[in-house]
Amino acid sequence: MTANHNLDQVTKRYRVAVTPLVSALSVNSEAVARQYQPDVRELVDDENALQDPIGDSAHSPVPGIVHRYADRALLMPLTVCPVYCRFCFRREVVGQGDAGVLSDDELRGAFDYLRTTPSIWEVILSGGDPLALSVRRLRRILDELRTIPHIRVIRIHTRVPLVAPERITTELAETLRAAAPLFVVLHTNHADEFSDEGSRACATLVDHGIPMLSQSVLLRDINDSARSLEDLLRRCVENRVKPYYLHHLDPAPGTQHFRTSLTEGQSLVEALRGPVSGLCQPTYVLDIPGGHGKVPVGPAYLELLDADHWWVRDVHGVRHRYPDDSGPGSSQAG
Ligand SMILES: *Cc1c(COP(=O)(O)O)cnc(C)c1O
Ligand code: SF4
Repeated sequence: MTANHNLDQVTKRYRVAVTPLVSALSVNSEAVARQYQPDVRELVDDENALQDPIGDSAHSPVPGIVHRYADRALLMPLTVCPVYCRFCFRREVVGQGDAGVLSDDELRGAFDYLRTTPSIWEVILSGGDPLALSVRRLRRILDELRTIPHIRVIRIHTRVPLVAPERITTELAETLRAAAPLFVVLHTNHADEFSDEGSRACATLVDHGIPMLSQSVLLRDINDSARSLEDLLRRCVENRVKPYYLHHLDPAPGTQHFRTSLTEGQSLVEALRGPVSGLCQPTYVLDIPGGHGKVPVGPAYLELLDADHWWVRDVHGVRHRYPDDSGPGSSQAG
């Protein structure tokens, strides 16, 4: 078998797409290109890989909904994206099959679930990229959500502002603003993704009063250096996008070559603490495989010394004895 034949296997298995802007950025940036270029290593067998790495299906009461935490649920109105990331954690669903969007019946079922589940305070539009929907369709979804009194907050996870900034029109920004409080969480993994057009798209959203956060995935040979992470996080803040999560890579099939260890992740995050503004600090999180949820896995700075004291490590690695008046062990004493 030739390498080309193998590449055909990859592109048959997982969809490939980039936007004109992303292919232009890829010319000058390996870090952008590698996120989207199919690679024969995607065929490598990985015994730790999972079809459904973060256990979405275990928490999906009806099509289009993942409800893992009482107060918030994902609504996934579509399974297509303007670009396909080679490390996508939902790659066995996103960009697969031909449907692409929820049918009207399925969408009604999803809204019924949201309407009849009063614990849901926040709805997170994800997928698929929700900003790949037409403004008309998106407005219908947001309007419907706004008729449900217990849903107080909406969040949209998207790559669109940086990969297809032409979609961030005034009409779209006004539509999102009308659904406030609505947060846009930008998926970005490298400073090179911030083109002038992309920065303008972020500015359009923020200027319309839409708060923006970022989420990034720690990726081998793309952003796994302190320098590269620092550049990315600073660029986010310079664009008024507050870093929210740095995700440890989920074990989706064929993504092993993007993997770093938790130890590497922790030391990268540790290197940022101190030299880099607190505004730039994301929480380093792991989504525990099997649907057990996200937990922070950043470096620990506290260590129990005795019943009344902790060791606290400073950013230079020096430990300091910290007296805890109420007693760190008191809660477990009994
Ligand atoms: C990641 C995720 C959320 C959002 O979690 P936050 O910690 O609030 O960002 C909600 N539901 C599911 C199923 C998720 O995977
Ligand atoms: S934008 Fe998100 S959902 Fe779409 S391919 Fe990339 S990681 Fe997957």
